[in-house]
Amino acid sequence: LLLAYEPARRLARLQVNLERAVVNARMIYEILDMQSHQRDKPDAKPLKVSEARIEFRDVAFSYGDNEQTLKGLSFVAEGGKTTALVGPSGAGKSTVITLVPRFYDPAAGSILIDGQDIADVTKQSLRQHIAYVSQQPYLFEGTIRDNIRYGRPDASDAEIEEAARLAYAHDFILAQPQGYDTPVGENGVTLSGGQRQRLSIARALVRNAPILLLDEATSALDTESEAAVQKALDEAMTGRTVVVIAHRLSTIIGADKIIVMQDGMVVEEGTHESLAQHPGGLYARLNNLQGNASAGETVED
Ligand code: ATP
Repeated sequence: LLLAYEPARRLARLQVNLERAVVNARMIYEILDMQSHQRDKPDAKPLKVSEARIEFRDVAFSYGDNEQTLKGLSFVAEGGKTTALVGPSGAGKSTVITLVPRFYDPAAGSILIDGQDIADVTKQSLRQHIAYVSQQPYLFEGTIRDNIRYGRPDASDAEIEEAARLAYAHDFILAQPQGYDTPVGENGVTLSGGQRQRLSIARALVRNAPILLLDEATSALDTESEAAVQKALDEAMTGRTVVVIAHRLSTIIGADKIIVMQDGMVVEEGTHESLAQHPGGLYARLNNLQGNASAGETVED
């Protein structure tokens, strides 16, 4: 039984190291459970999630003394739907995603989940409801099983295997020298980019959180991996509130809502059909670039 808590203990150690260091927020997401040294408000309550609707209300934010990165940003990510963030590099898409689990707090404005200001709830309860899949999944020192269990330290082996199956990872895991007990990380076996992503998706699935934050990969995978990762993501996105930094045209077209960002603001929002009809708009321009690019599958600036 004690062994089952080992990942949690390792997390606790990691947390200390990470919070001392200035780390890239994109990496810390993967260990959302780490406790924060930032205190909750004295009267903080646990977050109560029903639809998992996320609302940004006039959110302003800057990193240190720099220029404002977000300049009064408002949008709604409806519960159970997929909201795609698109826009040029530096527009602030990653920053938006960073604020949801409160790695940083807005300088002005508020972020609400089902009507509750996330500044007023306990961080632990907030982060429990969020899973994150990054562009560059982080694998910890440990076995494949441990790595999936980071999604939820009390997950049973059966739950881990179920998540791996849903993430199209089970078969390649069984093909490893020691199956689920195969060490990965710096001193373990080397996994391909697509395999790492599927482990990261399994980690998110085992977490079974209603909110999924997704930073879609820009780097191309081989066709077979691409298809497997896409199927795994489709599984992870089903029934959840998804906010995705979208790079692939198919994700953008399939999104329930597209938020077009530029320079820390929302400049357009709508569906692919509605946005594409505004010929002068940024989305239409990005979309044209995409259409003109022969082989590219990504929408960039
Ligand atoms: P990309 O598509 O290139 O990732 P983005 O739209 O996600 O871009 P952000 O990564 O949110 O944009 O960056 C918005 C601005 O904030 C940029 O000017 C960036 O340099 C700055 N920025 C991002 N992270 C940090 C940080 N940790 N410290 C200081 N400035 C940062």
